[in-house]
Amino acid sequence: MKDSIITKTEVKKLNAELFMPFTISSGSHKSLANAAVKIQTAGGVCGYGEAPVATHITGETVEQTEANLKAVCRDMEGLDAADYLKILHFIEDRLDNNRAAMTCLELAVLDLVCRMQKISLWQYYGAAEREVRTDITVVIGSEDKARGFMKKTVSRFKDFKIKVGVDFDEDIKRLKVVREAAPGARLIVDANCAYSPEDAEKFFNELMRQGIKPDIVEQPVKKNDFEGLKYLTEKLPLIICADESAYSLNDVFELIRRKCVKGINIKLTKLGFLRAREVWALARSSGIKLMMGEMMESELSSFAAAEMAGGLGGFDFIDLDTPFFLKDSPCPAGNLLSDTGIYHIADVREGTGIIPGIF
Ligand SMILES: [Mg+2]
Repeated sequence: MKDSIITKTEVKKLNAELFMPFTISSGSHKSLANAAVKIQTAGGVCGYGEAPVATHITGETVEQTEANLKAVCRDMEGLDAADYLKILHFIEDRLDNNRAAMTCLELAVLDLVCRMQKISLWQYYGAAEREVRTDITVVIGSEDKARGFMKKTVSRFKDFKIKVGVDFDEDIKRLKVVREAAPGARLIVDANCAYSPEDAEKFFNELMRQGIKPDIVEQPVKKNDFEGLKYLTEKLPLIICADESAYSLNDVFELIRRKCVKGINIKLTKLGFLRAREVWALARSSGIKLMMGEMMESELSSFAAAEMAGGLGGFDFIDLDTPFFLKDSPCPAGNLLSDTGIYHIADVREGTGIIPGIF
């Protein structure tokens, strides 16, 4: 048998507690509750993937994701990893309706292929930038909690993402707390679909009237409201960025063609690795700002995203901070991730550099 034939696959739960609930306008993560896979070749090389499940954002569940992973893993046994692009297409065809599972298996295959060739995922994607630095998220909560959070993080991080969209006045108060604590920081404001176009216009005008101008505004309106995004892009002197709206290559094509946004948040869990790269190329050639984001993810898939972003280059915002919310991560990154939010992707030796301790 050829060494590159996939002979063994395994699916497990990937769980961790959080230091605090990760609350956004559409709901809350109280823990990391994902799934992970390990695939192995006849030659004994292994690849690992993570399925980031965000039920309150995508509707996907852990149970359904695990069942889908097991079914598709079974069918991958016997395939030749040397034909990995063919396998990536096979995965995309089978799991288009469960993107967490799709991206998980795509990652496992890419990690495997990189490890077979003894290169990192960062090198696979072009090794453009030697490190990337994530922002940190100020979740929805009280003004006091935000003040305490800023005290702990202000000396470590340079970019802050503030989640808004539940209470107009409370959100502005929290933004003021962040601005006062970190006067020179870049501010990313993310409403996760919370507003009507008119309410968004009111909110951001009031914020600017109070002297706070966000560096980028993510998903102020509903997922399907492309016209609302376009309205705000035309009305406000701000970079309006699509996140939930940018769920496929076709969405991104339409958003750019209709001049709805000036920024796109790429998440591998929405797009998968194949289409994320195409979105990157499309955005770069259209002068659109790029963010690399994630769902609630461990170091495993956070490193995959960091390595793609730094490997390809040209990302304006990096939002890969969920490892900093994990207590006792099952996928520790050691020195590859510094407590100031820097992913040392040039130091990764093989694959993502991360092996989950659960296997
Ligand atoms: Mg977002």
